[in-house]
Amino acid sequence: NGTPTAGRRTNNEPLQRFTEAKKHMGIIYNDLESYVNDLFTFYKELGDTSKLVPQQQMDEVRRFQESIRTIKEMFGRDKMKVVFFGRTSNGKSTVINAMLHSKILPQGMGHTTSCFLQVEGGSENEKSFIVEGSDRKRPISELEKIGDALSLSGGDDPRLTNSAIHDTLVSIFYPKSSSKLLQNEVVLVDSPGVDLKPEYDTWIDKHCLDADLFVLVCNSESTLTQAEKSFFSRVSKKLSKPNVFILNNRWDASAGDAQAEKVRKQHEKRFQEFLEELNVCKKEEEAKKRIFFISAREVLEKRLRLSQAYQLDGWAIREQNFNEFERNFEQCISRSAIRTKFEAHEHRARDILRDMRENVENVSQLALREKQRLELDFKLKHKEFQDCRNNFIRLEESFFNERRKVREEVHLKVSADFYE
Ligand code: GDP
Repeated sequence: NGTPTAGRRTNNEPLQRFTEAKKHMGIIYNDLESYVNDLFTFYKELGDTSKLVPQQQMDEVRRFQESIRTIKEMFGRDKMKVVFFGRTSNGKSTVINAMLHSKILPQGMGHTTSCFLQVEGGSENEKSFIVEGSDRKRPISELEKIGDALSLSGGDDPRLTNSAIHDTLVSIFYPKSSSKLLQNEVVLVDSPGVDLKPEYDTWIDKHCLDADLFVLVCNSESTLTQAEKSFFSRVSKKLSKPNVFILNNRWDASAGDAQAEKVRKQHEKRFQEFLEELNVCKKEEEAKKRIFFISAREVLEKRLRLSQAYQLDGWAIREQNFNEFERNFEQCISRSAIRTKFEAHEHRARDILRDMRENVENVSQLALREKQRLELDFKLKHKEFQDCRNNFIRLEESFFNERRKVREEVHLKVSADFYE
């Protein structure tokens, strides 16, 4: 529209579109809910006084109310979800921390993520986590220990097997205000390394079917492994056209290497082919917008403003690449989430409106037929009444005549008697 703010572009804009779409969806469904509630009250009153509303139509309105309630709850929970995959120690946790501008996830050679760690926006000052299957919120300071604790004890559920532990979801809540992503309802999920040879299908079914985007974090010092390839092949089989970004992390290792450009081109070509195989995109230019050569460690340390931030030759280009990845990521995730999550709700709202119109039309047809019947009934009754009235008038007339006659006779008789 033409308002002065409408044309203003901010860095936040693509992500905000999702929150705005959610707000609009809320308005649509609130309106719809009040129409349905009004209709229900109207039908109920009508039903009580005239029995004009058939049970079928009444039940349907109750079903509309339930569907609207369920959908409202559903999109109230909807968030944009990105899942990070890759081999252990490729830097998945470091990438997530860099994107969140905070060291939230444990990272380091000693630590390997042994379960799914999901970071989402919580209330102000909230820094806690919950292990799947438990309601207990724990302080985030205990997170470092959770990997070991889960592997040793099976978490809060002693029956958990090793592979079930890798499936376990740990939800971390961090203040929304701490990052643009958390503020705009992005949920970031870190996964155990794909080299752990998990049950890929179970992982995908449990954690990926509602994902809007996947980020494959690779180690630019080595080539794509079979484990990484197999995992994403399964993803693309289950989700027909997955949204995938590829990060060649640890690209700082190439600093000062005369062969770096050649290696970069080789990686790029291989990854383009891989994205085509996965049916993510078809054109080379599209693929280029999804492949980045970065150093998450450099970006994180710079963003944490560490005085001795780790920065090797060429860090500015790697940083630029990371920023570009984030820009493309934001656009892509909000577009995909709006399409996959809200399009269905919007169609459902239209369906409910259409069914509601049909429902009202059915009841009003019935009411019209009833009105015609009553009018006919009235006409018949009216005719009966008219006939009755005419008969009565006739009767009355004959009665008066009779009475007059009798009176005259009596009068004659009385006067005759009198004068006799
Ligand atoms: P994950 O197992 O994939 O989550 O890997 P982490 O994020 O825990 O990282 C493993 C180790 O690699 C940590 O010590 C990180 O500091 C280090 N690391 C991560 N990213 C980079 C990077 O871009 N360059 C370098 N040199 N080290 C990195």
